[in-house]
Amino acid sequence: MLKEVLGSIFKKPATNLYPAQKLDMPDKFRGKLKFYPERCIGCKMCMRDCPTNAITINKLAENKFEAVFDLSRCIYCAQCVDSCPKKALEPTKEVELAELDKNKLRVIFKAGDTGNSITKNDK
Ligand code: SF4
Ligand code: SF4
Repeated sequence: MLKEVLGSIFKKPATNLYPAQKLDMPDKFRGKLKFYPERCIGCKMCMRDCPTNAITINKLAENKFEAVFDLSRCIYCAQCVDSCPKKALEPTKEVELAELDKNKLRVIFKAGDTGNSITKNDK
């Protein structure tokens, strides 16, 4: 017993030191979504196939669409990514999504933004 205890002092910990040490998520990890408005054709296949109604596509003008994600509903299944015929949606490795204000989990990707730009709806 004592031998086990002393031996474990010098072993590498079996657990991650998160949040002190950031996790390196695997390449195919399904985290927060990214939207590329310039690729979107407004077909709404993503909306149709989303199991939790977490995504809404709004037409703003001819060939201009915005995506609204409700991160409090999203289960990060990436079904919308698979359903999109134009690769306008992409999962990221972003995992730290907790917010104290539920309204901040409603994320709008406006037309004209790049895939990285997001706007949080603070209303
Ligand atoms: S990842 Fe899944 S739950 Fe989230 S918006 Fe896409 S289809 Fe809906
Ligand atoms: S499935 Fe893709 S192209 Fe169609 S509305 Fe959704 S994001 Fe746009």
